[in-house]
Amino acid sequence: MSIDQSARPRRRYRLVCTPIELCIVTFLFLTFTQTQIAQGPAYDLIIRNGRIVDGSGSPWYRGDIAVRGDTIVRIAARISEPATRVIDAAGQVIAPGFVDIHTHARGAIFEVPTADNYVRQGVTTLMEGPDGSSPVPLKPWLARLEVLPKSVNIGTFIGQGSVRAAVMGDVNRVPTAPELDKMRALVEQGMKDGAFGLSTGLFYVPGNFSTTSEVVELARVAGRFGGIHISHMREEASGVIDSVKETIAIGEQGGLPTQVTHHKIIGPANWGRSVDTLKLIDEARARGVDATIDQYPYTASSTSIQAALLPAWAQEGGREEILKRLRDPAIRAKIKAETIRIIRNERGGGDPKNIVIARCGWDASLAGKTLADVTRVRGMEPSVENAAEAGLWIVEQGGCSGIFHAINEADLERILRHPATMIGSDGEIPIFGKDNPHPRSYGTFARVLAVYVRERKTITLEDAVRKMSSFPAGRIGLFDRGLLRVGMKADIAIFDPAKVRDAATFDKPHQYAEGFSAVFVNGQVVFENGSMTTARPGKVLYKRM
Ligand SMILES: [Zn+2]
Repeated sequence: MSIDQSARPRRRYRLVCTPIELCIVTFLFLTFTQTQIAQGPAYDLIIRNGRIVDGSGSPWYRGDIAVRGDTIVRIAARISEPATRVIDAAGQVIAPGFVDIHTHARGAIFEVPTADNYVRQGVTTLMEGPDGSSPVPLKPWLARLEVLPKSVNIGTFIGQGSVRAAVMGDVNRVPTAPELDKMRALVEQGMKDGAFGLSTGLFYVPGNFSTTSEVVELARVAGRFGGIHISHMREEASGVIDSVKETIAIGEQGGLPTQVTHHKIIGPANWGRSVDTLKLIDEARARGVDATIDQYPYTASSTSIQAALLPAWAQEGGREEILKRLRDPAIRAKIKAETIRIIRNERGGGDPKNIVIARCGWDASLAGKTLADVTRVRGMEPSVENAAEAGLWIVEQGGCSGIFHAINEADLERILRHPATMIGSDGEIPIFGKDNPHPRSYGTFARVLAVYVRERKTITLEDAVRKMSSFPAGRIGLFDRGLLRVGMKADIAIFDPAKVRDAATFDKPHQYAEGFSAVFVNGQVVFENGSMTTARPGKVLYKRM
């Protein structure tokens, strides 16, 4: 074997720089740097002079915020370097973009990827898959979302009800061991696909056919991947106390954080029970259970007429089975008795006028009419009994979604004040002008700032912003959003605290919130001067361990 002895010195020579070479390198470096400076200002965006409400709950402070790319790169009392764009936010609040932990955005995100109703109230991140309902598997849907140009960020939970339906259908029985294994595997796959946790809708078919221990088995899987459990509880009326206990137990036994979603107390007979539900949350937290709450600021709920007015047992097996039961006079009488009770004591708040049709696929003209109106149109006096009959008729025709005025203000404010309560809209992306949706989709976040901060002073501005930003973001492990800090993603909402307000009402829901002057998502402006921009910087968010 021969060795080329001349190779070594040659290599050594190449590693050593002569003074001339150093000069050339230094010259090139300086030229490059100067070119960079000449190419553009230090920042893409500076927002000046605003009151910074940083999302932590701390009192506001005055300062400037600089953004480069999709990231907040500097916050200081005064940033005087040039920027491509400078916004003067004098007199306005600069807040982190809001994170809505409970939305039904998937209904229309592909039709309205700008999610105007949310962006115009400062929301920059939407969480989907609530109430036990999500696509199963998640991956194809997330892939479609990835390629969709959109204004907002979106993430999802994996829904226990959808997982159960995929494995067992809508049956009311306990799963076999192999079925439970299949459900575990689907939840695991959902978490691996990027879900932020397991949602349950134990009020709805088929979630309400699940025992607590069945849910715990699936919650354990989500917990192993760092997810949370978030629940539309089994009962929010006379059974609300037991439901909160169950939600806490799922967290405690499943070994994961647990959340009562859209917490409310339904039905006049139950009003005031938030004193006890909040006590349960406090006691759970005191013994180390990570239990929290979210809430929307309205005294009416919204869900399907069928889910709200029919007992769970009557909904087993799908539509044909329901219709078969309604055709049997004896079973129909039993169902009607339950519906009467629900209108009298629960979702109906004692009066069919409290139930309003939101949307009807088979007769769009019913949207906005009350159940009392529908009863009259059916040729009956609007008594509770006759309204129950009209309710069953609606189910027979194909069902509608409804709005139910049966929550009281004292419970709402008591829950809102609780430090473990965050804000979530439970809203959707409406098609502007279509149907009669619950105003929460258009107004939730603005309404908290207008009514519960400015008018009633139920909570402070800083606490409200915390409940809309860092609290929900941290809850799902989104630690690069929800705070105005250097290094965080530049999701930013700018609004006038004196003018911000929800305009949507139950009578006229299709009205955008007011008072926001600009909203940024990942550093790009998606809304300003009263209009959505053409930017589509929204990202699909995934849970990462
Ligand atoms: Zn719900």
